[in-house]
Amino acid sequence: MSEVIPRRKSVGVMVGDVQVGGDAPIVVQSMTNTDTADIEKTVRQVAELWRAGSEIVRITVDRDEAAAAVPHIRDRLMAMNVNVPLVGDFHYIGHKLLSDHPACAEALAKYRINPGNVGFKAKRDTQFSQMIDIANQNDKPVRIGVNWGSLDQELLTKLMDENANREVPWSAVRVQREAIIQSALMSAARAEELGMGRDKILLSTKVSNVQHLIDVYTDLAQRCDYGLHLGLTEAGMGAKGIVASSAALGILLQRGIGDTIRISLTPEPGGDRTLEVQVAQQLLQTMGFRQFLPVVTACPGCGRTTSTVFQELAKDIQDHLTESMPVWREQYPGVEGLNVAVMGCIVNGPGESKHADIGISLPGTGETPAAPVFIDGQKAKTLRGPNIANEFKAMVADYIEKRFGG
Ligand code: SF4
Repeated sequence: MSEVIPRRKSVGVMVGDVQVGGDAPIVVQSMTNTDTADIEKTVRQVAELWRAGSEIVRITVDRDEAAAAVPHIRDRLMAMNVNVPLVGDFHYIGHKLLSDHPACAEALAKYRINPGNVGFKAKRDTQFSQMIDIANQNDKPVRIGVNWGSLDQELLTKLMDENANREVPWSAVRVQREAIIQSALMSAARAEELGMGRDKILLSTKVSNVQHLIDVYTDLAQRCDYGLHLGLTEAGMGAKGIVASSAALGILLQRGIGDTIRISLTPEPGGDRTLEVQVAQQLLQTMGFRQFLPVVTACPGCGRTTSTVFQELAKDIQDHLTESMPVWREQYPGVEGLNVAVMGCIVNGPGESKHADIGISLPGTGETPAAPVFIDGQKAKTLRGPNIANEFKAMVADYIEKRFGG
């Protein structure tokens, strides 16, 4: 059995009604890609992300029109019973937007501040302080979110100069990592100097390289007890983005690091934004940290399954479970722990089906056209004929009702 290092102890932060860090479960969050000034579209996408399971949603606040839209977005969502905390993502003019739009400052549950984009030279501290003061006045937490694409260049130059004087200079990558971490820690210390409580500060230090991300968060985790938001920035599209994010975040989570995660996937044109939420949930669930959805164990298929029957049934069952979950979650407490197996042939089918709560072993090519169904490890029935899929779905529904109903 592999070792899961106990979760690093962090200070819990309330983001709206959602606790991040402390003893709270690891929180799933996401970000919209709509123009926040477009209230209709943004409300729709926030609601979609929330329905998919996003527990916090971040929105861009980049100009006056966007800031003015924020309270309306919050109100519309509340009218729809979508009570998800909204985080405002600020760069360059966040101090101005927050002070010019007090209703926006009030409506948001958290402000994301990027220390590399908060202003330059003398203006940096003034503008950063202004944002922290507004957060304090509104009793809001902040995420100090450093990103290596917008790293504080003055700090990096200073550390590079210091490095040049070292007897054995560090590698450029190590200096850059140190600059990322120092930028986050110094900004957090400054926020505390300005009167912000430790229970109002979360940190992130995002980079787009998997190995560097693991190193930077492992280092940061040892140097503070702030709650940490994990994410591989600019992870990319499709399989590449999913694998890179899962590899990086999976290793950190296994080391006990991370209080909230976001999977930064680039959507396909017209693609489903909720994919990033599904991936985050799958990552936490497959690693055993949280349970969101019943698990469908399906074999990959091989030369023994020349028809697509079992692929179709596996997909059918998976879709059926996913679509039913919003209702089942209320109706059948604990149903997210259900394990269903859909297997392609006799080789591993009966064995894997017995390990599941309910499983079906479909006939492979040349096998007798019969599909034994196993419930709690015992053979319960053998299905035959053209209606196997519907009969099995009915058996799953019956099992759920008996086990989780009432
Ligand atoms: S269970 Fe059967 S069909 Fe599925 S991968 Fe194994 S051998 Fe192939």
